Amino acid sequence: MNKEIPYKIYLEESEMPRDWYNVRADMTKKPAPLLDPTTGKPITAEALGKVFCEELVKQELDDNNRYIPIPQEIIDFYKMYRPAPLVRAYCLEKKLGTPAHIYYKFEGNNTSGSHKLNSAIAQAYYAKQQGLKGVTTETGAGQWGTALSMACSYFDLDCKVFMVKCSYEQKPFRREVMRTYGADVTPSPSTTTAVGRQILAEFPGTSGSLGCAISEAVEAATSREGYRYVLGSVLSQVMLHQSVIGMETKAALDKYGVKADIVIGCAGGGSNLGGLIAPFMGEKLRGEADYHFIAVEPASCPSLTRGKYVYDYCDTGRVCPLAKMYTLGSAFIPAATHAGGLRYHGMSSTLSELYDQGLMEARSVKQTEVFAAAEYFARIEGILPAPESSHAIKVAIDEAIKCRETGESKNIVFGLTGTGYFDMMSYEKFHDGRMTDYEPTDEELAKGLSKLPKV
Ligand SMILES: *Cc1c(COP(=O)(O)O)cnc(C)c1O
Repeated sequence: MNKEIPYKIYLEESEMPRDWYNVRADMTKKPAPLLDPTTGKPITAEALGKVFCEELVKQELDDNNRYIPIPQEIIDFYKMYRPAPLVRAYCLEKKLGTPAHIYYKFEGNNTSGSHKLNSAIAQAYYAKQQGLKGVTTETGAGQWGTALSMACSYFDLDCKVFMVKCSYEQKPFRREVMRTYGADVTPSPSTTTAVGRQILAEFPGTSGSLGCAISEAVEAATSREGYRYVLGSVLSQVMLHQSVIGMETKAALDKYGVKADIVIGCAGGGSNLGGLIAPFMGEKLRGEADYHFIAVEPASCPSLTRGKYVYDYCDTGRVCPLAKMYTLGSAFIPAATHAGGLRYHGMSSTLSELYDQGLMEARSVKQTEVFAAAEYFARIEGILPAPESSHAIKVAIDEAIKCRETGESKNIVFGLTGTGYFDMMSYEKFHDGRMTDYEPTDEELAKGLSKLPKV
């Protein structure tokens, strides 16, 4: 096939994936099971079902079914903003003078501004199917809360979002978007939960943390009839839903006979990267093709590159099951870097296992170089990227420059997870030269890792 490749490769609606792809099915050595924090034994569906929706628990524990059909109602919703375009970055290639071919999958074409809607709509759907009244969650930077609010309003579900207090105050526009979609947004810690009141008594005037917001959201779900808790990344079910990104990317490349050489994504909790690489990784696992995968994380929160592969709590409040993952310790408080969505101490257990098997590379990058890449990209390709996404942009540019030096014309594919309109305060800091880089010292990391659970 030698068709001229358009700037944007769109799939027809009829070419959209009908199934999510579960990469765990193709792994000979599976990710380690979630453990019940009270017993130290693999957690049962029954115990998980008290916190999460039934069908999502099934997906969480499913290591064997390769394809999970996407329910028609979810496909219909996906059609409002998908298929997402796969863009050939001709202008960037030209500017860089690289023989490499650069492609990016753009997930910012919806009001939530990120890929998170792909899983939010699935989770809201299963909650509705189960006859629930509503769901609760936490949000830090606000992207997940926004996506979930949109999904819940579509299915007429109540949505309670605990938003880390400092974000609630610093990001009033995110908060109002959520309220526009009918969500009930509470700054965390709050007096509406026992755990919130306890934290407030202990630390009056605290501006909150993600860990604390998770604890409040879980309590709000488990103490109310007809509510469950939902999570926007890290869990295997979320990575499963995000495989729609990779399935579409692969279908678009296949349509033009293009074989990716390098696939790059930013890694917070690992769901977008895991979803993007899933079908490619499947081929690699089955020995059908080889790819070079690169996970990009912030140097300020380097779970893969400097963390340990052990069982840890998924939340600072220590209420969720234990997961074996690359972690900096649930007690690690990442520096206030601006890529809010990448400030997580751990990593998806599936991605962790793939990384541990040597099937993927990980790199960490510094914030100022990330913003420099973001701005460079915005000026050439037009899209104003989210700081999180810009981690992937930075490494894609690095790889394209390497190709310029070696003369290789590799196909580089990266995930552009979202837009950065709500991150202009960070851009402002960068423009004013007030942005600094931060890398935790070995002592700081040792401190975070000193409180790992004993299993
Ligand atoms: C949340 C978020 C991320 C991080 O995604 P993970 O799947 O948790 O790694 C990346 N980019 C954007 C724009 C986000 O909102």
